[in-house]
Amino acid sequence: MEGLSNSTTLLLEEIQQLRAELSTTQLEAQKRATELDKSEERLSLAMRWANDGLWDWNIETNEVYYSPRWKSMLGYEENELDNNINTWENLVHPDDKNMAIQAAQDYLAGRADSFEIEIRMSHKDNRDIFVLSQAFIVGREPDNKPVRLVGTHIDITERKKTAAFNNNNAKILEMIAIGNPASDIYNAIALMYEDRHPGLRCSMLELHGSKLMHGGAPSLPSEYCKALHGLENGPSVGSCGTSTFSGKRVLVENIETDPKWGNIKHLALPHGMRCCWSEPIKSSSGDVLGAFGMYYNHPALPNEDELNDLSSAARLTSIVMERDQAQKRIRALAYSDELTKLSSRAHFYLHLEAAIKTSSRYKHRFALLYIDLDGFKGINDSLGHDAGDLLLINIAKRLQSTCRDIDFIARLSGDEFCILISELSDNYTAANVAQRCLNTVSQPVELSTRKHTPACSIGIAHYPDDGNDLASLIKAADTALYAAKKNGKNQYAFYKPELTRQAEHRFLVEQYLREAIENQQLSLVYQPQINLKTGKIIGVEALSRWDHPILGGVPPVEFIATAERIGMIKPLTEWVLSTACQQAVAWKKEGFPVPRMAINISSSHFIDKEIVPLIKRIINETGITPTELELEVTESVVQTDPRNLSIFQNLKSLGIQLAIDDFGTGYSSFASLKHLKVDCLKIDKYFVDDMLDDEKALLLIGSMIEMGHQLGYSIVAEGVETSEQFYTLKNLGCDTAQGYLFSKPVKAQAIAKLIKNDYNI
Ligand code: C2E
Ligand code: CA
Ligand code: CA
Repeated sequence: MEGLSNSTTLLLEEIQQLRAELSTTQLEAQKRATELDKSEERLSLAMRWANDGLWDWNIETNEVYYSPRWKSMLGYEENELDNNINTWENLVHPDDKNMAIQAAQDYLAGRADSFEIEIRMSHKDNRDIFVLSQAFIVGREPDNKPVRLVGTHIDITERKKTAAFNNNNAKILEMIAIGNPASDIYNAIALMYEDRHPGLRCSMLELHGSKLMHGGAPSLPSEYCKALHGLENGPSVGSCGTSTFSGKRVLVENIETDPKWGNIKHLALPHGMRCCWSEPIKSSSGDVLGAFGMYYNHPALPNEDELNDLSSAARLTSIVMERDQAQKRIRALAYSDELTKLSSRAHFYLHLEAAIKTSSRYKHRFALLYIDLDGFKGINDSLGHDAGDLLLINIAKRLQSTCRDIDFIARLSGDEFCILISELSDNYTAANVAQRCLNTVSQPVELSTRKHTPACSIGIAHYPDDGNDLASLIKAADTALYAAKKNGKNQYAFYKPELTRQAEHRFLVEQYLREAIENQQLSLVYQPQINLKTGKIIGVEALSRWDHPILGGVPPVEFIATAERIGMIKPLTEWVLSTACQQAVAWKKEGFPVPRMAINISSSHFIDKEIVPLIKRIINETGITPTELELEVTESVVQTDPRNLSIFQNLKSLGIQLAIDDFGTGYSSFASLKHLKVDCLKIDKYFVDDMLDDEKALLLIGSMIEMGHQLGYSIVAEGVETSEQFYTLKNLGCDTAQGYLFSKPVKAQAIAKLIKNDYNI
């Protein structure tokens, strides 16, 4: 091209010279015209050969001669464009126009030595082409004012594209070199090739096993990419599924009709794609890593350029993909333990450090469980390392099953594991997980056809209580582990020994209580309630007792809370209801009827939808008269959902008596009681205790009694221990009293005796 441009320049100089020579005499006008015609003919020929367009602008008349090549370069026939300056003005890109005019003016005025500009011009088929425009002054007036400007147009669109492509290519290589994320590079590669071929859309898929995974496809609809993600490849799965399967290029001219697309064309057609060419992306050793796909919205096979680009795109992508996959493998190796697939020690330390940071910021606690298998060395020595490995894999799975998603579990080395437990509710959360670990690990396992029962020891440390940095925390957990081993293995220990004792006790209570409830080893005592006017026993409250051969007598407050925690409160209550109601019926049969049997119902159980059917069943099974049964619930049920309203109503319609227990200690008010159907308020012992020393307590009790009466409730005072309390309550108008003054809670036989003798009031 450069050689041609030189010859053009020479020709132009020749014309210039000719024109200068011819310009002087009129006589020579004829000759001049012929010469000019001739030279223009030669010039135009040369131009056509040189693939350049020619223009010749008469500045005075604004007539412009455009050569046929000039016009065809823009897609026009000879007769389609007028020979005037408007033609150029209409076709030049509006953003380039002023610059071009300015450059021409500068050159004509002598402010610039030459005229050479790059402009965009509009092609007839509506695309822009890049044009290099050069020009020379070829005629001047006697006063040296230029009158004609002759120039060439060269279509440099391809050259521009190549430059842009090379530029993009360099950018991509730079991205690879500095290690940008693979997905970013995939997108850049796609956009680069799409730039070169208007209408083209590219995609890169990675092959994982036999599944196609999304790599990059910035111009394809995300719905389509999602649909392809995870697709199994095969001998006839679209273009990319097939090319990754066969390892060979697959060119599909028409997605609609090609049998390879039969099963998945419904994914592509709605988005406009009509052809798809796919090149497998291969590693340096020839393994298929994925596929590069090119799509157009019309059926087509690639031309030579497109085919070249398809294979070069796949090659370029392979560099990125191979490196990315290698890095991922290395990372996975470093972060996970190859044998058990749990996190590695390195990963664990990173996680622990991050946990310390966030926990210190948000003032959270977390627990670290250090787990070590008991007697693992023996397995390795006696059954061999393969058996040892099998056991470790098995243990890893079991430990994992005890953890929640938010917990972090790692294998630190050999037979050592670690679990980081976040979001603790109390000290027992860690103990619970530890206990679950002990239980699951100690399930028998078959190793080399022999049954083996593994065991482990666990040390527990808390952040920040036992250490507030990585080293001190691990040391604390390790110390605790040592204590657990020393205590006889197959157990856990906290760093703080008192926590171990508390947790052990709690678990024992849970375990024994479960057995006690299942085997009905609890007992009931009854405490009389005395009518303050008559001295008669008008009812008893049934209270549970648990005497355990090892634990001794466990206070009801403790075992009731435990039963709620371990989900045993329902069977417990059921047993109490059934036993107490049977007792009431028995007393009646024996001839000393107790008018009312009061039974405590835990709030959580009371608001359960099964409570009403349960009470119905108890009434039927025991034969107790419903009006003789009273249920005591605390104020907390008054606070909760209005749905409880219907429970109160349903129980009332059975004829049951309802009492609010511990009244005055919760947050309910008379107002909130108003809409509940309640018969009785039991004023808490707390008020009775203070009543004689504290004016306010006395005032409060007085108002509670008065107010309660006005609302139609009967009032029971709890914990009455002295006769002063008794008289004061009587004077305040209290109906009933319950307390040690009359009787502690006693066995059923004792009640039978008490009931015969009224209290002397
Ligand atoms: P509560 O329902 O308020 O029962 C009254 C408690 O006060 C009983 O304690 C009783 O022994 C004690 N008491 C009665 N009079 C006096 C007194 O004059 N002086 C003193 N110092 N104490 C007195 P107990 O039996 O230890 O029961 C404690 C709590 O355990 C009960 O409080 C009740 O909330 C719960 N509870 C006991 N048995 C059951 C049961 O079968 N089911 C449910 N859900 N809770 C029960
Ligand atoms: Ca009670
Ligand atoms: Ca009470």
